[in-house]
Parts: sequence; structure tokens; C-alpha cells
Amino acid sequence: MSSGTGASPPGVGRAEFALRVGDAGIAVQADLPEGLVKPAVLLPVLQNLSNFMTDLAVLQAGRQGHALSCREGCGACCRQAVPITPVEARVLVEWLETQPEDRRAVLRERFRKTAERLEEAGIAQEIRAAAGKGGRETTHALGLRYFALGMPCPFLEEERCTIHEIRPLRCREYLVVSPAERCAHPETKEIVGVKPPVMLSRILARWDENGGPQAEEIILLTMLDEWVAKHPASGAHAHRTSPELLQEFLRAFARDEERSG
Ligand code: SF4
Repeated sequence: MSSGTGASPPGVGRAEFALRVGDAGIAVQADLPEGLVKPAVLLPVLQNLSNFMTDLAVLQAGRQGHALSCREGCGACCRQAVPITPVEARVLVEWLETQPEDRRAVLRERFRKTAERLEEAGIAQEIRAAAGKGGRETTHALGLRYFALGMPCPFLEEERCTIHEIRPLRCREYLVVSPAERCAHPETKEIVGVKPPVMLSRILARWDENGGPQAEEIILLTMLDEWVAKHPASGAHAHRTSPELLQEFLRAFARDEERSG
């Protein structure tokens, strides 16, 4: 792994680094703002790296004789409870604000209806109670009850993700090699998934939105508004530069890769 800087416009620094995972490698170049920044500036880099991790997982599955079942136009997994990180939550809410008013209204209404159904089903309350404690069994049981409601993600249209380029890391990391029809029945536990060598979503979940360390936090994509209402943008200033954040990310990456390897 190496890093460095190159020529770039004023106020922007060029970050260059290379990562090796097993026998595969990737060289990354990114223009990042100079000065103190929030980790959201790294999100496009992490999204690209996440795609690379996904490719590696698919390759590995292929070597073991498994083909990926996930196809464009299949949105079965987009009815699951999708966990996102604080950094992604803030970025998505800001993105929503940039949308044309009529589009924003459509999306907001979907979020509102989803939140309403989660309250009616008693799931929202349980998710709040489980936050920060979440044993695996509790999380799994809640996930099944959520899925049973059959609610599509507010960003899903005609079984396609309408925010594909900026979709959360966890959406990128969810890969299935069992027959696609099984995805409609997670309760049977017959879904066979493949995991990327490093889950970047887990690294990002250990950062707060200002780049400080925190216990791994996940937020339900469909409860985004509630999280933002409880965590108004504090104006807390960023306290690290892009290279510092990048170095920290690379250290976390190396640690997680070592553990998974
Ligand atoms: S953000 Fe996109 S990929 Fe993720 S659950 Fe929603 S529709 Fe599916």
C-alpha cells in the first residue's frame, strides 16, 4: 500500500494509493479538498473501492464454482432492512435536498409511509430499543419481520435502484449465489451469500460524521429522517484533513483485511 500527492487544482490535493487484496490490486487516484474536511469527502473513493471488493468476491465465488444470482431488475433484497452509516445518512439527506421539488416530494412521501408502517407494525420501536445492543438473533428476527412487510426501499422503482451510483455501501456488499427466487423467502435460511474480503461499510460505521471514532453505528435507511431529526447538523467542525482521514481509513482497511484473511 502506498500513497502520495500529485498535480491538482488549487484547494484540492491529489491522493494516490494502491491496495492489494490477495492476488488482486487496485490503484486509486482521487482529488480531495485541502484543509479540514468531514469524512463524507471520502465517500466516492469508498464507493469505488467497494465495487472493487464486490468484484473480488464475485471472482472468488466463481473460482469455487458459484455464479452470482444478482441481476439488474431484481430488487428482492431492496425490501430488506438496509443498514447505513452516519456518514452516508447525512450525505443521502443532503442529496435529497438537491432534488427537484416534485421528485423530492415523491421520495419524502415514500419515506413517510414507510416510517408509518414501521410504527404500526411495532418494528420501529423495537429497532430503537435494539440500537446499540443488537444481538445477532434480535437483529435477524427484526430483519425478517421487516422483510415480511414487503415494503420496497423508497429509492426502488420498477425493481431498479434509482440511486445506483450513490447507493449505500451495504447495498453494494449484498451478493447472493443461491437461486434468486429464494431471496423472497429469507426465513428459510436458504439464501447463500458471498462476502467481500473487506466490508467497507463496517469501517465507515466506526466513524462519526465528523470523522471521530465511535462504536459501530448503523442506521436503517428507511428511518433516515428520524436519525437526522435526532442528530441535527451540529456545525461541529471537522478536525482532520483528507490525507489524515485517508491514512486512518487505510489502517482500518489493513486491519480488517488481516482479520478476514
Ligand atoms: S438504495 Fe438502491 S440498492 Fe439499496 S435498497 Fe434502496 S433501491 Fe435497493
